[in-house]
Amino acid sequence: MPEPRHTPGELLALDREHVWHPYGPMPGRADPLVVESASGVRLRLAEPAQGRSELVDGMSSWWSAVHGYNHPVLNEAVRGQLDRMSHVMFGGLTHEPAVRLAARLVEITPEPLRHVFLSDSGSVSVEVAVKMCLQYWRSTGRPAKRRLLTWRGGYHGDTWQPMSVCDPEGGMHDLWSGVLQRQVFAPPPPVAYEEGYARELRALIARHADELAAVIVEPVVQGAGGMRFHSPDYLRDLREACDAHDVLLVFDEIATGFGRTGRLFAAEHAGVTPDVMCLGKALTGGYLSMAATLCTPRVADGISRGDVPVLAHGPTFMGNPLASAVACASIDLLLGQDWAQEVKRIEAGLVEGLAPAREVPGVRDVRVLGAIGVVQLDHPVDVAAATAAAVREGVWLRPFRDLVYVMPPYVTGDADVARICGAVVAAAREG
Ligand code: PLP
Repeated sequence: MPEPRHTPGELLALDREHVWHPYGPMPGRADPLVVESASGVRLRLAEPAQGRSELVDGMSSWWSAVHGYNHPVLNEAVRGQLDRMSHVMFGGLTHEPAVRLAARLVEITPEPLRHVFLSDSGSVSVEVAVKMCLQYWRSTGRPAKRRLLTWRGGYHGDTWQPMSVCDPEGGMHDLWSGVLQRQVFAPPPPVAYEEGYARELRALIARHADELAAVIVEPVVQGAGGMRFHSPDYLRDLREACDAHDVLLVFDEIATGFGRTGRLFAAEHAGVTPDVMCLGKALTGGYLSMAATLCTPRVADGISRGDVPVLAHGPTFMGNPLASAVACASIDLLLGQDWAQEVKRIEAGLVEGLAPAREVPGVRDVRVLGAIGVVQLDHPVDVAAATAAAVREGVWLRPFRDLVYVMPPYVTGDADVARICGAVVAAAREG
C-alpha cells in the first residue's frame, strides 16, 4: 500500500480549505473523519475517533455498498476490465460490459422495460427519465404535457430537474423554490392504504392530465426526503390513473432497487411496471458512479416518431466499461445468493434491535422495512452529538433532520446488526 503523504491533521487542514463536502460550507467547519481503508462492513480510520479506529458502516456508503467493501469478486471485476479498457466514448462505439449490463437489467426488471440509458449518477438518470417523458409527448403531438406530479416528502437528486420534484417545503432545495419549474404536488402517501387519499390522488392526476408528462415517485419508501414508508397499493392506483389519463409513470428506484426493501425492486411489492425506471446507488455495489434509466418500447417508439427522433443526451462517461463490468459482477453476486433471506435476516435484527428506541424520550416512531431501519424523533437531531454517540459505539451513521436511520450492507452479520442498532438507540438518546 502506498505511504500516505499527509498526516491526518494535515489532510483535515487541506480538506477544510479546499474541499467542498455535500451540503457543506466553504471553508469547511466540520471535522470529517479520515477513512484510510474499508473492508467488509468496516471503515478503518486514519486516526481514532471517540476511541474507535474502526467503524461498522450502518449507511452502506449512502445505501450503495450492499456487498460491503473490498469484495474480492468486485475487485476482480474492476481489475479484469481495467487490463482491457478503462473507458471509451459511447457515441458510435459500444462494448461488451455495457451491452451485457443493459441486457441483464432488462432481464431482472419487470416487463416490458426493455431499453436502457446508462448515465453516471442517480440525479442524471432522473434528468434522463424526465427528458424521455417530455420528449415522448412532444414527439406524439402533445407538447403541452410538460409538468410532473409527485408526492411531497420525496427526493430525486440535486440537479436542476430532480430538484423540482423534491420536497418543496422544509426540504433541501427550498432555496430554489422560486426558480425551479413549478410541478404538481400531492401530500405524502399515508403508511396504510386510505381510500380517501387514493381518491384525491386519482382526482389530482385527472385534473392536471392535460399538462402532465409524468408522475414520478419513489415506490414504497421515500428516502432522503424523510424515510417514509407507504402502502404499495398506491402504486397500483397510480398505474391505473396514469393509464386512464394518458400520463407516463416513472419509478425512481435509485434507493429502493436491488433488494433494499425485501423485493428486488420495490415496484414488485405492487406488481406494477412503470413506463420509466431509474436505478443507481447499489447498481455497482457502491464501487463506481453509474446509473440507468430504463423505459418501455412505448416510450422509445414514441420518441422515435418525432421530428427529432433521438434522445438528445450523451454523458462523456456514459456506459463506462469499469462501472458496467462491476455492475454486472455485483448483480451476479447478489442474485447468486439468497439475498432475500439475508435482507429478511437483517430486517428481523433491526426490528429486535431498534425496539428499545421506542422507550427513548423524544422518539416519535420506529419503523423497519427490509434492510432499512428508521428512528424518528419529535425534534431535529443534534447531528454532531448523535454522530459522536454512534462513533463511540463503533458505528458510522449519518442522521438528518429528525431521523436516525440505518441501511446496512446485506453482508452485515447478526452481531454487527445488533451493534448498529445499539448505536442508533444511543444516537437517538443523545441527539
Ligand atoms: N433518487 C433517489 C430516490 C435518491 O435516493 C437519490 C440519492 O440519494 C437520487 C435520486 C440521486 O442520486 P445521486 O446522488 O446518485 O445523484
